[in-house]
Amino acid sequence: MLINSPAQEDAYLNKREAMVEQQIKARGVKDKLVLKAMRTVKRHLFVPLSQADEAYTDSPLPIGHGQTISQPYMVAYMTEVLRPNPQMKVLEIGTGSGYQAAVLAEIVRQVYTIEIVPEHGELAAKRLKNLGYRNVQVKVGDGYLGWPDYAPFDAIIVTAGAESVPPPLLEQLKEGGKMVIPVGLPNRTQTLKVIEKKNGKAVSKNLMPVIFVPFTRDK
Ligand code: SAH
Repeated sequence: MLINSPAQEDAYLNKREAMVEQQIKARGVKDKLVLKAMRTVKRHLFVPLSQADEAYTDSPLPIGHGQTISQPYMVAYMTEVLRPNPQMKVLEIGTGSGYQAAVLAEIVRQVYTIEIVPEHGELAAKRLKNLGYRNVQVKVGDGYLGWPDYAPFDAIIVTAGAESVPPPLLEQLKEGGKMVIPVGLPNRTQTLKVIEKKNGKAVSKNLMPVIFVPFTRDK
């Protein structure tokens, strides 16, 4: 890992503060735990080196293999929707860079995250370990199937656009738990939904239009 000078780290810290104030708080995210996590996680260490100076801008960034790390606001917003707390065990589908997993790991007890592109999963696992996140477990595989070994989960976050809600994920959500997921056709605007499991049934609410990379399946 590249070690930045203290002056460089200070510059990134200032950018992170500005990101939280201008992009995240300004758009209505209030959850103190979420804001603290967004101030803490060094987003510049989750993007390719060539993109480090763009890490705190108000947009998604390419991370290779046609994938992207979501816009900071979207990460904060989706995290807030889950109402995370230190007791929770959360499943993420779409590890990507590992950034969203790190944000969650700052707040909750345990994060399980699944990535279908082996290169991303392996790099994210190494990165999270090097950064000292001991409460994140990364698996390479098809997230459609969830992670039955560790189910049920208090919350589930899907960070790729699915055509419909994968039934195994709903199955693995705890009663009363929330899942946040973009649903829609690939390469079109999707609808970010929050789905709450109530009496075994999915109660779904539309949140906002979003564009995520497609949810793919193992062939
Ligand atoms: N949360 C990530 C961004 C995710 S981009 C971050 O913080 O950086 C969406 C990711 O979902 C991509 O890396 C893509 O490869 C992955 N993905 C797509 N379909 C998947 C599936 N079925 N199972 C697991 N991961 C999947």
